[in-house]
Amino acid sequence: MAKERKIGEKKLECQICGGKVTIPADVMESEIVSCDDCGLEYEISGVNNGTLQLKPADSIKEDWGE
Ligand SMILES: [Zn+2]
Repeated sequence: MAKERKIGEKKLECQICGGKVTIPADVMESEIVSCDDCGLEYEISGVNNGTLQLKPADSIKEDWGE
C-alpha cells in the first residue's frame, strides 16, 4: 500500500465497527464517504465549526437495536 498523506484529511471513527472513515479535506455537506473497514456509507449531514456530522447513508432501515 502506498503511503499517502493529504494535509487536511480527517479520519473519523465508524459508528458501526469502530474503523476509520476517511474524510477528504474538501468534503462538502451531503457528500457520501465510506468506512475503510466495513464499507458502510455515511452522508455528511452537516459541518459545524469544522466538526463533521455523519449519518449512516442507509439508516432508512428501522431501528438497529435489538
Ligand atoms: Zn465501519
